[in-house]
Amino acid sequence: MSKIIDGKAVAAAVLEECRQEVEQLKARGVTPGLAVVLVGEDPASQVYVGSKVRTCGELGIHSEKIVLPTETTQEDLLAVVERLNADPAIHGILVQSPPPPHIDEEAIVRAIDPAKDVDGFHPENVAKLALEDPSGFVPCTPAGCMRLLKEAGVETKGANAVVIGRSMIVGKPMALLLMAKGSDATVTVAHSRSKDLPGICRQADIVIAAVGRPEMVKADWVREGAVVIDVGINRVEDASRKSGFRLTGDVAYPEVAPKCAAITPVPGGVGPMTIAMLMKNTLISAGRS
Ligand code: NDP
Repeated sequence: MSKIIDGKAVAAAVLEECRQEVEQLKARGVTPGLAVVLVGEDPASQVYVGSKVRTCGELGIHSEKIVLPTETTQEDLLAVVERLNADPAIHGILVQSPPPPHIDEEAIVRAIDPAKDVDGFHPENVAKLALEDPSGFVPCTPAGCMRLLKEAGVETKGANAVVIGRSMIVGKPMALLLMAKGSDATVTVAHSRSKDLPGICRQADIVIAAVGRPEMVKADWVREGAVVIDVGINRVEDASRKSGFRLTGDVAYPEVAPKCAAITPVPGGVGPMTIAMLMKNTLISAGRS
């Protein structure tokens, strides 16, 4: 029987910790502030930005939502980032990804003050993660996965962990966190050029799937008693739903779950953790200010 790791419940606990930290910061005269910048009208981005701002409101974090038209120039966006860098009421800045194609996203990330880069994407924070220097910011989704493993009582020390995906947002930082001192996992990172992915996964005590391919990880890829963290969020057509689609992960949950010691569902697994860890990072930044 597999244990379902309840990301909603863990995220609620993290947000409760955040609520208390906000009170402590305010008692010290610091009101934490997060600025969220959205360029364009991408519907999914609008939903993400909306829930980040709403969560700030629920916790008593000051938030500034800046919505810019699709045709905003690189220069104008850089000017907004510069203004936020200089604003002492703002401790965290994020520019919602993906921006419109004419924007150089990497240059925007580099323009954000690393001390306010609560997404943890600035090269300085990437380097600090690799160096195991705790003065940086850890990207929210992999940080959320680590917290889920901890809350589920999963032993990472000496475990064989397979991370599928090598993106800068999930796969790479996830691998760094798992192999860091203290976590002490033996990590394999797989990607689209990996040979015999099912065979690689079968060696894993812990599988982290961050691919973006619906239900790719099958039951015969996973050994009996493994722990599976499914980061994927994929929209698949579903005529039985009013919306016409449903969300599914990168793992074929119905067939994989019975083999696992523990597994995250989609939705309700990693997803809720990402915003919770963003709030945590904002409070860390405010605490340092
Ligand atoms: P990217 O597209 O940036 O990266 C996907 C990775 O998967 C790449 O490294 C790619 O390899 C690899 N990959 C693609 N196809 C295959 C394949 N057939 N076999 C093996 N590896 C493959 O995606 P992200 O990392 O940004 O996101 C991954 C998933 O996680 C998505 O579903 C996304 O929606 C979800 N996500 C969820 C979040 C949450 O809050 N829960 C937050 C962020 C993302 P290569 O490098 O060779 O191209």
